[in-house]
Amino acid sequence: VVGSEDIPEEKAEDPKIKPEDIELESLNSSSEIEVPEKLIDQVIGQEHAVEVIRKAAIQRRHVMMIGTPGTGKSMLAKAMAELLPKEEMQDILVYPNSEDSNNPIIRSVKAGRGKEIVAAHKAEAKKRAQTRNTLIMILIFGIMGYAIITGQLLMGIIGAAFIFMALQYSRPKEEAMVPKLLVSNTPDSTAPYIDGTGSHAGALLGDVRHDPFQSGGLETPAHDRVEAGAIHKSNKGVLFVDEINTLTPHSQQNLLTALQEGEFSITGQSERSSGAMVKTEPVPCSFIMIAAGNLDAMEGMHPALRSRIRGYGYEVYMQDTMPDTPENQKKFITFVAQEVKNDGKIPPFDRSAIEEIMRDARRRSNRKGHLTLKLRDIGGLIRVSGDMARQDNSEITTAEHVLRAKEIAKSVEDQISDEYTRRSREYDLTIVEGTAVGRVNGLAVVGHDSGQVLPIMAEATPTQSATGNVIATGLLKEIAQESIKNVSAILKKFTGKDIRNMDIHIQFIGTYNGVEGDSASVSVATAVISAIENIPVRQDVAMTGSLSVRGNVLPIGGATYKIEAAAKAGIKTVIIPKSNLDDVLIEDRYRDMVEIIPVSTIEEVLEIALVPEKKEDFMEKLNKLANMKPSEFIES
Ligand code: ADP
Repeated sequence: VVGSEDIPEEKAEDPKIKPEDIELESLNSSSEIEVPEKLIDQVIGQEHAVEVIRKAAIQRRHVMMIGTPGTGKSMLAKAMAELLPKEEMQDILVYPNSEDSNNPIIRSVKAGRGKEIVAAHKAEAKKRAQTRNTLIMILIFGIMGYAIITGQLLMGIIGAAFIFMALQYSRPKEEAMVPKLLVSNTPDSTAPYIDGTGSHAGALLGDVRHDPFQSGGLETPAHDRVEAGAIHKSNKGVLFVDEINTLTPHSQQNLLTALQEGEFSITGQSERSSGAMVKTEPVPCSFIMIAAGNLDAMEGMHPALRSRIRGYGYEVYMQDTMPDTPENQKKFITFVAQEVKNDGKIPPFDRSAIEEIMRDARRRSNRKGHLTLKLRDIGGLIRVSGDMARQDNSEITTAEHVLRAKEIAKSVEDQISDEYTRRSREYDLTIVEGTAVGRVNGLAVVGHDSGQVLPIMAEATPTQSATGNVIATGLLKEIAQESIKNVSAILKKFTGKDIRNMDIHIQFIGTYNGVEGDSASVSVATAVISAIENIPVRQDVAMTGSLSVRGNVLPIGGATYKIEAAAKAGIKTVIIPKSNLDDVLIEDRYRDMVEIIPVSTIEEVLEIALVPEKKEDFMEKLNKLANMKPSEFIES
């Protein structure tokens, strides 16, 4: 009685904060937060997908999830298995078929019974073997005894050996009659979740092993060589296949058959193996399929399989980011607490560490007012930060640990970009001071989360053909090519020169992996105008921005990473589109290194980037030209 009074008090001492009541200002440690029990409640930011999964679980529907890796697809599939109604789980057994040994018999029984049946058969076989052994012994001793009495010892030994061998050879293989447990479940467990990602045909659809002996009493019976596939193990549960397009068309076709029939015979998957002769009776496989992949996955997917999933289920697109609202911040904080708890080895995070992680999520979202949902990466950062704290024997993880973790846990692209910046500085490829005609420091994104200074050179030469050409080199991809064409429109207007008798060459330096997108158009325009007008460009300025044919500077992606790369390279001023200003979330250490100037037109860019003394006349001309109508152009 005394004890029962104590318990509630103890609990009251350590109350956990519910996710919806979190207030970051008063939070001391992530361990104060209550982490949801169920996996489905742990998923954040994918409200639509969560709703679909809940619905699909009740109605046992298939789901296709398309989205970026690390956004929670497999987590949702696992959560679905937890949600599935606890239907009667089954064990599946395979028995030998005395009439046709190549067609083993399949039986399903209640979960848990399978093990009992196999154990009973084994005990039975053992008992029979023992009885026979006893009989043999009696016979042999009988013969020997008779031989000794009658004095015919030699005959007795030969007789006993003969009987022993004859009986041994003709012995039925008791073990061969024991059924094999193909799929085993425990009663009352949640539905199985099986990950069939990247499985070869055998692992996915089941297989029959090869038997090197095949006869002569040494062979393994056919039913003993049967192995269940992922589709059978996920019977009554969830089969998750990520990167569905990497399965061969043949496997996808078979998967479709399995989906439609709810049962699928197991046969040897390799044609020349003795297993290929064996084909079991149909094995139950009524699973729910969760197919996942990124957008390209749908192209490589068997159309009939996709249509089947769509016809009998749902398709969901996974979100990459979520709006940075107080609501979502609370969810994000819960996510940090949950990752810490699930890891189990790292110390809890204090407020400063949570704030730092959240800042990184804002940066990584690459989008104004959003938090990233590529949470696998954030989870990785959380774990490395925790490891840093552990290394220091700290009881709690702080912002300082997170900052150190960021330094260490850089992506490969980021490491390459750093290395490239270092090396190009060594060879003077990146020039960050002085001025130069026809050379501009552009900025590019490498991979997903790192930037790079991308020098662009331009030169105008008299043409040797009938009309002038614009030639751009540096492995430009389609959109980059088109952006060059758009720049041509600006050139015509802004230089007012007849470029019909000029060839304009534009070179992107060091772009071994090609140039994608149109975020270099501002830099290209500036470089070319500088070359045509012979006005030097400031090299301590870097710029990024897309350009409309009318000379407006349009937004680009990766502003934060680009600015940080410029700062690292030693650039002093970075010009970015005005509309990107809110996306800029550079780390504190870069803040004092660069000045960021937002612009909305190409005139503003030229005003900043061109060398002041030389540009006066040009800017005047520009103003005049910018206000001219096309008809006046022709006259002038
Ligand atoms: P995917 O299958 O989309 O590649 P996963 O489901 O394997 O991604 O996610 C990996 C890990 O990242 C999860 O185990 C979880 O810790 C974390 N995670 C990813 N997305 C979410 C999410 N939406 N909510 C909570 N945690 C997530």
